[in-house]
Amino acid sequence: MIVEERPTPLALRLAARIARDGAITIADYMEACLGDPAHGYYMTRDPFGVAGDFITAPEISQMFGELIGLWAVETWDRLGRPAPFLLAELGPGRGTLMADALRATRLVPEFEAAAQIVLVETSPRLAAIQRSSLADHSIRWTRSIEELPGGPAIILANEFFDALPVRQFVRLAAGWAERRVTTTEGAFAYQLCPAPDFAGPTGVEEGTIVEIASAAEAIIETLAARVAKCGGVLLAIDYGHDGAGYGETLQAVRQHQPVSPLAFAGEADLTVHVDFARLAAAVRASGAEALPLMTQGEFLLALGLLDRAGRLGAGKDASAQAAIAAAVERLAGQEAMGHLFKVLCVTTPGLALPPFPSRSGVPAR
Ligand code: SAH
Repeated sequence: MIVEERPTPLALRLAARIARDGAITIADYMEACLGDPAHGYYMTRDPFGVAGDFITAPEISQMFGELIGLWAVETWDRLGRPAPFLLAELGPGRGTLMADALRATRLVPEFEAAAQIVLVETSPRLAAIQRSSLADHSIRWTRSIEELPGGPAIILANEFFDALPVRQFVRLAAGWAERRVTTTEGAFAYQLCPAPDFAGPTGVEEGTIVEIASAAEAIIETLAARVAKCGGVLLAIDYGHDGAGYGETLQAVRQHQPVSPLAFAGEADLTVHVDFARLAAAVRASGAEALPLMTQGEFLLALGLLDRAGRLGAGKDASAQAAIAAAVERLAGQEAMGHLFKVLCVTTPGLALPPFPSRSGVPAR
C-alpha cells in the first residue's frame, strides 16, 4: 500500500511506535488517527461541510434536528414528563442537531426547563464550536458517558458509533488471524497475525473478514443498562447494516473523496459501518429493548419531513424551495442517506414509541 509522499506528523509517530512495539491493531490505529490529543483527526479540525471533508445530516438541513427535537418532546411525554431528566448527545460535532432540536422544542417550554443538557465530546476544538452554537442554552460537557448524571434520560447520537474503533479478524485455512498495521518501505501496510483466541463465527469461508466494535458495544451496553434501570431512550442514527456477512467496512474520506485508510493518518476521517444486529443483541443482553430498526428515510418521513419541508418553503423563492427539496432528497432518498442510514431506538422494556413499529410489527400509537 502506497502512502502519500510526505508522512503526516501522526504517521511518523505511529511508525516509531510500530518500530518499537510491533504491529498495532486496527483499533489502535483508528483510535490514534481520530483521537490522538495532538494530531487526531477530530482533535485538530472542524471537518464538516463543503470546506471540510464530509457532511452529516444536521449540516444538510435544520429539518433533521427540528424533527428529532419534536420526537424528543413526544418521548418525554410518554416517559411521564420526568423533571429533571437528562438530555444528552454523544459526539455532537458542531452542535447543530442540538441547536435545531432545542429551537423546535420551544413550543413546549417545560421540556427544556426540565432538561439537564449534557454533551459528551472528546474534542476540545469541537466542544468550543458547540459552546458557541449553543450559547443561548444552559449546557454541560463531559468527555465520557461514565460521567453522565443518573435518572431518566433521552440520549441522542448521530454518526457517533461509526467513529469508534474496530478490530478486524480474517479467516484463514489454519484459523483466525488479526489484521494489524505495520510499516514496510516507509509506508503502512496490513499484516496478518495469528489470533488463536478469537472466537469468530463458525462455518465461514476462507477470506471472510469480521469487524469487532468492542468500544461501541461497551458504550451501548452501559447506556442500555442505564435506560433499563432509570427509564429513558437512546436514539442512535448511523450508516450500517442489520446482519452478518458484511466483512470489512473501514473507510477513509478526505475532502469528500475516498482515500486509503492507511494514508493521511490523522488527516482523513475514518469510519466503519455500524453492525446494528450486534448492537441490538448487546442492548437486549443488558436488559433494555431495541425497537425494530428503521431506515433514516422511513423515520424522517414518519416524523413529518414532507410537511415540515412544505412549511419551511412556504412563501420562499424558487431557489430556496429547490434547496429544501434537495435536502429532503438527500436526507430521505433511497439513493442518498435514506436507506443506508438506520435508526436504532433503545428503550425501557414495554415503552411504545412512535414512529417505531412494536415488536409485533404494528406501529406504536
Ligand atoms: N453528530 C455530529 C458529528 C458526527 S462526527 C453530526 O452529525 O454532525 C463524530 C463526533 O463524535 C465528533 O464530534 C467527534 O469529536 C466525536 N467523538 C468521536 N469519538 C468520540 C468519543 N470516543 N467520545 C466522545 N465523542 C467522540
